[in-house]
Amino acid sequence: MAASDTPVLLINAPLVANRLGYPDLSGLDLLELFAFVHPARFCVPTPRGLAQALEIDEPAGDEDVPAFLQRTAGALVTACEDPEWFEREGAWSALQSMERLRWPWAGVLKPHVARPERAEKWLFATLPEWEESPERGSPRQVELPEDDVLQQLDHLTGEGSEKREGQRAYAREAARIFAPRDARDLPHLALAQAGTGIGKTLGYLAPSSLWANASGGTVWVSTFTKNLQRQLRSESRRAWPMKRPDGTPPVVVRKGRENYLCLLNLEDALQGGFASRPAILAQLVARWAAFTRDGDMIGGDLPGWLGTLFRKRGIAALTDQRGECIYAGCPHYRKCFIERAGRDSAQADLVIANHALVMVNAARGRDHAQRPTRLIFDEGHHVFEAADSTFAATLSGQEAIELRRWIMGPERKNRGRRRGLAARLADVASYDDDGGEAIEDACEAGAALPGEGWLQRLNEGEPSGPIEALLSAVRAATYARDESANNSRGQEAGYGIETEASGLPGEVIEAAGGAAEALAAIRTPLIKLGGRLEAIMADPPDWLDGQGRARIEGARFSLQWRVDLIAAWESLLARLGGPADPEFVDWLAVDRSDAREFDVAIHRRWLDPMKPFAKVVLEPAHGVMLTSATLTDRIGADASDAQDAKWQTAIARSGAAHIESKPLLSAAESPFDYAARAEVLIVTDVKKGDLPGLAGAYARLIEASGGGVLGLFTAIRRMRAVHGRIADRLAREGLPIFAQHVDPIDTGTLVDIFRDDPRASLLGTDALRDGVDVPGRSLRCVALEAVPWPRPDILHKARRAASGSGSQYDDRIIRARLAQAFGRLIRNRDDSGHFVVLSSAFPSRLLSAFPQGIAIHRLTLDEALVRVRDGLIGEKQTEAVQNAGELDDNIPDWPQ
Ligand code: SF4
Repeated sequence: MAASDTPVLLINAPLVANRLGYPDLSGLDLLELFAFVHPARFCVPTPRGLAQALEIDEPAGDEDVPAFLQRTAGALVTACEDPEWFEREGAWSALQSMERLRWPWAGVLKPHVARPERAEKWLFATLPEWEESPERGSPRQVELPEDDVLQQLDHLTGEGSEKREGQRAYAREAARIFAPRDARDLPHLALAQAGTGIGKTLGYLAPSSLWANASGGTVWVSTFTKNLQRQLRSESRRAWPMKRPDGTPPVVVRKGRENYLCLLNLEDALQGGFASRPAILAQLVARWAAFTRDGDMIGGDLPGWLGTLFRKRGIAALTDQRGECIYAGCPHYRKCFIERAGRDSAQADLVIANHALVMVNAARGRDHAQRPTRLIFDEGHHVFEAADSTFAATLSGQEAIELRRWIMGPERKNRGRRRGLAARLADVASYDDDGGEAIEDACEAGAALPGEGWLQRLNEGEPSGPIEALLSAVRAATYARDESANNSRGQEAGYGIETEASGLPGEVIEAAGGAAEALAAIRTPLIKLGGRLEAIMADPPDWLDGQGRARIEGARFSLQWRVDLIAAWESLLARLGGPADPEFVDWLAVDRSDAREFDVAIHRRWLDPMKPFAKVVLEPAHGVMLTSATLTDRIGADASDAQDAKWQTAIARSGAAHIESKPLLSAAESPFDYAARAEVLIVTDVKKGDLPGLAGAYARLIEASGGGVLGLFTAIRRMRAVHGRIADRLAREGLPIFAQHVDPIDTGTLVDIFRDDPRASLLGTDALRDGVDVPGRSLRCVALEAVPWPRPDILHKARRAASGSGSQYDDRIIRARLAQAFGRLIRNRDDSGHFVVLSSAFPSRLLSAFPQGIAIHRLTLDEALVRVRDGLIGEKQTEAVQNAGELDDNIPDWPQ
């Protein structure tokens, strides 16, 4: 009632609203004020985080927070009066617009932001232009003497720092991928297991920087998480300066284009494309755009929490999500962040990228000269799954409607500047009759694709057009053949359902034929149009200047991408009635969340996605390394041929077999004394399926350790239920809990909050299992609700069968997941803590996933709580564990 009567000061209105169960809560959100006054500045969105960012005193306790909020508001408002206010440029003009939008802070700020003497320039006039640079020549073939590599490592680690033998050996191994290649299509391929704490980043940056300097070439380091990208950016400073003498950056972080701000979309949003709250977001993003390092909106210097304060899709709508860029036809082309990043990376010594981008670039990059030839995949255990999704083909309602919009433009008029092919290439159509005809034909044929409301029409049994008819038949067949109603997954639980794409009913085959014809009718004019664009480039008319050429070049590229996509769909459909291709796994699916359908699809995956990976990434490269702390399998040391078996999966998942390469293998053990710093507790008296019992166990664990718990779940539904039962009670005890999929905050920010508050705990699912790097006291206990069994879906079953190793295949996956989860606990030499499994169904054959020598106890919850509370660590294995082999017979291999 108070909040609805008077605007209150608060931090993160959506989060508070969520906690209060009062969705209409609004007020004076300090985070919005912070984003206005200090755009592009890092801040953890908590009282403590704000205090640190503003260098003011932290609140002493919860009771001091209300007064602290007032002090913070005062500090931010006063900052605007400081003559040295770094982010003053543009603030006054933005504030005028935001006042018109009725931004609650506008009236408060207005008296404190002085009107500038000269009119401020419009953002788009102040951003710097990128410069065209000459193409970088091919790298020289050089050798890296071992002594030089070690000397460079000494230089990077700092003169006089302790020489770590593991790290030196690792650097020597990494250097081997930079040697000149012996044969065409056969890169040096190294697989390097690097235990946590050996210092692998500097270990490979040493030879990388040496090679880049000596050869004039570019090294790409690819990561899976944004966290590691951040770390790499900062560690690379030891080897390279921020800028070269000519002003260009030697180190560039490169992401997919959908991560960057599209200035044209922003301009559209500022000029009326966005209304009310989203329009305020656009103003705050414009403030940020003037100060950002590189325009990266996802994981760059735009605060991760900013988007979540506003409408859900606001940030995404400001990026170039749908490939609607008009390249040189865009008035901001010369200032475009995406174009700048591409040019910078072509000139860089080190490009920091992610697995998906590296693979997409290799598969369908515009510029072959920019393809990486020296590549290090850090977090290399994720390369397989990144390849799996990169080389997948999916014909779904959502994908098809995107294609329709790309061809025909949005169906509703209020979708901002988004336009179809005809509008984007209007000049080509008016100059070249054949080109114009091809555009018309493509638009006509594009009408066969699903339009808005397709899902509802499917529900009502009234599909429109051949593709919707196909999706309708797919949906019916999937439901008809679904068996999941008889188990805990599927229909009853409201999750997605799926069925093999074999022995399909005649309706599906027939509809597939019609859909394939419709797709071919779209593809043909697109190919023709591509040909016309090529002809125009070959014999350019007078009006086609450099910018026009670049635009047509861009259009040709995005056309080719769509032509390839449609061809992949057609080949997917062509197989539906015929014999299965052993290289692929095909299936039909209805995607659902909480029993609500959101997509219907036909999927195709490579049985072994490393085959296309080897073709497009490995073959053209000269040197590639895959490295990770969990690359090798943790099988028991006593197994015969243990050494070979440890590497078996890593080698198979590197693609080596497909290029007939014998990879260089190396392993550096972690220097941490795990046995003295951690122990594993397997709790035996929390019953499976007893949700109140599980929630109670989590609550008591968090109380016993005083927070600092990372709770990992295998099902979102269970995590939500546990959170709902315990969050309020614990918060009252000063033990806040945050949760993925519950709190309206992005995962990166949740981890920042968790890291910043040693009394906080964090609950989450897969993404947290190996994306969290929280050294120190903030993370002192990892609690797993159950053994992370792989989901027995169609794809998993096909790969399991192909592996020929049955349950051992599953065991390998689980051991890797356990090792990754355990890896969250000990991040540096001084860390210590407990790894708790709240499930007695833990086969002892999986215990080898944990570091050797570590104490493992099977015990009751009460006993576990005592150990956690008292910080007891490091006794020998208990009797129960030594005898645990007997338990195994009673424990099923497969989840119930
Ligand atoms: S060039 Fe493309 S991505 Fe860049 S601002 Fe213009 S439309 Fe957006």
